[in-house]
Amino acid sequence: MQEAILNDLKMPYCPGCGHTVANKSMSKALADMGVHPLDVIVVSDIGCTGLVDPLLTCHTIHGLHGRAVALAMGIRMGLEHPDKKIIALQGDGGATIGLQHLLEAARHNLDLTLVVQNNMVYGMTGGQTSGLSSTEFKEPDRPEAAVPGYDICALAHNAGAAYTARTFIGKDTAELWKEALSTPGFSLIEIVEMCPAYGMRKVQELHDTADYESVVTRNTRTVGLPHRMTGRSLLDGLKPIEHTCEAPLDGRLEIIVAGSAGEAIQSAGDLLSTAGITAGLSATKKGDYPITIGTGFSVAEVILSRQPIHYTGIDCPDIMIVISQDGLDKVRSRIGEHTLVIADTKLGPELAGLAGQPGLPGPIGPNGLPGPTGPNGLPNLVTRDFRKTGGSKGAALAAIAHWLQDNGFLPIEALIEAAGRHKHGDKMKVIIDKAIAA
Ligand code: SF4
Ligand SMILES: [Mg+2]
Repeated sequence: MQEAILNDLKMPYCPGCGHTVANKSMSKALADMGVHPLDVIVVSDIGCTGLVDPLLTCHTIHGLHGRAVALAMGIRMGLEHPDKKIIALQGDGGATIGLQHLLEAARHNLDLTLVVQNNMVYGMTGGQTSGLSSTEFKEPDRPEAAVPGYDICALAHNAGAAYTARTFIGKDTAELWKEALSTPGFSLIEIVEMCPAYGMRKVQELHDTADYESVVTRNTRTVGLPHRMTGRSLLDGLKPIEHTCEAPLDGRLEIIVAGSAGEAIQSAGDLLSTAGITAGLSATKKGDYPITIGTGFSVAEVILSRQPIHYTGIDCPDIMIVISQDGLDKVRSRIGEHTLVIADTKLGPELAGLAGQPGLPGPIGPNGLPGPTGPNGLPNLVTRDFRKTGGSKGAALAAIAHWLQDNGFLPIEALIEAAGRHKHGDKMKVIIDKAIAA
């Protein structure tokens, strides 16, 4: 027997809400077509329509407001299985906000189905009208009352959608669902629905908007190819990172590299993560810098792990490499009592001033050199003149090389090999050599 796409959970909508009926129509259509729930991916949006996820037995992804179609396009482009049904569900608010995505999906004619549940209000936020509210529906005393709503079906059709249909929720929409789901290319159904919480006084206007006959339009076009099938990919041309040496690291190590914009902090982070992969580890790297990328801080967060990395966030790092005041100002609050801080000499006095405060590193030793041993058996603070070793653009890399040389979490050869992949690899290797020798 065909498995149901709706589970037994109670629908969370207000009594009489059109979303309940729309979900049941979707379920009926898929069951009639014999589509197994695991062959369906539903992408939902923000708003009352987005309450659908827990009700479904298929794959679900919950997107940001207006972005359900963009997510669905990405899934279609990346998915290995062209036979899977991809359904995006949006309200009229989400469809208005994400209108450009909708037009792009139609223009590319990607094989997915968008269902716009148009009750002409933002139900979740108090009943405000949307870009899909008709002039008849809007209260005449409202400033926007005379501004016509978008005809979403006409827009999608003109942009190239293979199939569009507008209907009223009171009709049996399962047949339209089946047509849309079996049409290759982009299909859209606009279901004009009722929001009993905010739209009850306008039932006739809703009905009039959808007319008494469902309206269907078609374009005969080539179905948009998923990107991967065109043979062009952003990953094409990237040289694989070969696993050529072994890191002794067993667990997970979280490292923050902080400095100023223009000081190659991100390149240093890239090199460290590449070195990790070269040494057989999983690695992630995230960059953080202001929009004005030529001034202010620059922070790279790197995670190296023997196990796959499922969470890429760092709260309190194991290692913090800081080479400028901008960087220290940005990351100071994330130093914990187990953090090993490796800093440029110039920052030593300030870090020493922080000493003794709970959760911050102990005092630096004589001459600004390694301080007392921390709880993990390592000195909690190391300072060196990394700017002298590497210059302003090589100080972070010099600090990384120094740290690896001292602690051996990764073979230094891995860092040298990673540098060899970089366009400025020769200069980087010189900095690494100087840091090792210093
Ligand atoms: S507020 Fe409106 S759209 Fe939201 S669940 Fe209630 S009736 Fe449905
Ligand atoms: Mg709505």
